[in-house]
Amino acid sequence: MRSASLPLEPGFRGVICVSFGATDDIAGHDTGGQPRHDLRFDAATPEALAALRSALGRSHVGVRLVLAGPTADVRAAAAAAAECGLQQEEITLLHDETAPRVIYCPHCRATTKTVRAAGEEVDCQECGTVLATTDHFSRRLGAYLGYSAHVEEAS
Ligand SMILES: [Zn+2]
Repeated sequence: MRSASLPLEPGFRGVICVSFGATDDIAGHDTGGQPRHDLRFDAATPEALAALRSALGRSHVGVRLVLAGPTADVRAAAAAAAECGLQQEEITLLHDETAPRVIYCPHCRATTKTVRAAGEEVDCQECGTVLATTDHFSRRLGAYLGYSAHVEEAS
């Protein structure tokens, strides 16, 4: 997991920009001259969401949040931010449908990154199982659930 290089200063007042995966959408985001604090994560894992909550907890009321990345990660982060008391209008969502998604392999529990859409197949980078990708995002795993696309050929 990549995380912020600098801790957020207490009472930060500005824009927290959070990106998931390899998206670059947020790089050019205009914060309207306000200070920005960047956080980068591979996926919306429990650790990443905990780091986000902690950053929001240290921030000044009225801080703005920009979330960029695959839809499920962005949604999970938005939910975590709402739990921290942020209002909907304080959160900007930049969905990136083409960002690489992390697929969980139920056979070896490894994760594989893919830019393929849900419904397409991807080879598990660990065990080589052909995984059908789904839209089902597990917040616990921080990944989309894959399933064996060719069960009859696996054994
Ligand atoms: Zn596997």
